[in-house]
Amino acid sequence: MTHILLAEDSARIAAFVTKGLRANGYTVTHTADGIEALDLVQTQDFDLLILDIGLPGMDGFEVLNTLRGTGSELPILILTARDSVQDRVAGLDGGADDYMAKPFSFDELLARVRRRIRTPAESTSSSLSSGEIRLDLMTRRVIVGEVEHELTSREFSMLEMFLRHPGQVLSREQLLNGVWGFDYDPGSNVVDVYVRYLRKKLGDDAIQTMRGMGYRLA
Ligand code: CA
Repeated sequence: MTHILLAEDSARIAAFVTKGLRANGYTVTHTADGIEALDLVQTQDFDLLILDIGLPGMDGFEVLNTLRGTGSELPILILTARDSVQDRVAGLDGGADDYMAKPFSFDELLARVRRRIRTPAESTSSSLSSGEIRLDLMTRRVIVGEVEHELTSREFSMLEMFLRHPGQVLSREQLLNGVWGFDYDPGSNVVDVYVRYLRKKLGDDAIQTMRGMGYRLA
């Protein structure tokens, strides 16, 4: 059972996120207060903390700094309306694993949650495959037919994302969110560049371009 703590004082956002996460099989505890959030993660077991910055009691940065100061390695996804460069830097320096600016779509949030926590079923299988392609999750290598290739960490993440969505068209935005997380420029062509890198290793036909929609693993 995957247990997520959501620290968010907007009742509307908390209801939307809680409902969506529960529908996807996660157990969610919600608090609207920073001090209570800190108390909960220090007394109970969670797999992920989704943390708003503007919280009553203690703000999200303080919660983050206190947790990291005590050596906690709990994955933390920052959720905030503030999207300034300073806040991003402060969140990362404070040891957040990911950062999401409001407004966001639930799909985006879910993709990031999945990146941080694997369900037990996923974590026990050590490889993903499709057709001739097999990705070894332990050694982070890909085997195409009989030939083995090394992947960079971005190539690995991108291929993993394709293999976890068999037959599905993934948009550039989904790939950016899933592979680069908070650290990307939406206008960037980095997705296309990495698709080219992957094609060099997997074969030119391995990833299909779906005009105006994105990419799909063949
Ligand atoms: Ca807030």
